[in-house]
Amino acid sequence: MLDDIIETHITGTQIAYYIVCKRKLWLFTKGISFENLSDLVEIGKVISEASFSEEKLKEIDIGNIKIDFLKLKDEIVVHETKKSRKLEEAHIWQVKYYIYCLRKKGINCKKGILHYPKLMKTLEIQYSSEDEDIINKFLKEIVEIKRSERVPEVINKPYCKKCAYYEFCFV
Ligand code: SF4
Repeated sequence: MLDDIIETHITGTQIAYYIVCKRKLWLFTKGISFENLSDLVEIGKVISEASFSEEKLKEIDIGNIKIDFLKLKDEIVVHETKKSRKLEEAHIWQVKYYIYCLRKKGINCKKGILHYPKLMKTLEIQYSSEDEDIINKFLKEIVEIKRSERVPEVINKPYCKKCAYYEFCFV
């Protein structure tokens, strides 16, 4: 399965989009983008640097996925920084996906921490054996969505108004 992930380029962002909206995932993976990604990356970097000034995060590359982590004794803890908690379920699965990828590489990791520096909050995430089965199911569906020629339906959720594809979907 890890080879499939690398081959099909499934990133943490795609896992998050899969949880938020299959249509968003499809549009994004087809290269249709209205977001200024470079701005988003820059904002994320600034928040990340501000939050970890005391600690030294390390980074690992698996295929095209970059994972920030800290080593505590013999355990690896994944760290991910977000601006708000509005899409927290998607953030949690993104972190669990990173843990999944590390574990597939034989790395001892079962914990992640989500940081919300603007809110001065953190959330600890524990990875369970059931999570692996759930992520395997996600990955199968994501590969199908990415390969499909049909755009998934509009979902019409409250967060659609904040989505970069809002005008594409509703106007
Ligand atoms: S606006 Fe709503 S339906 Fe359209 S891509 Fe975004 S989340 Fe999905």
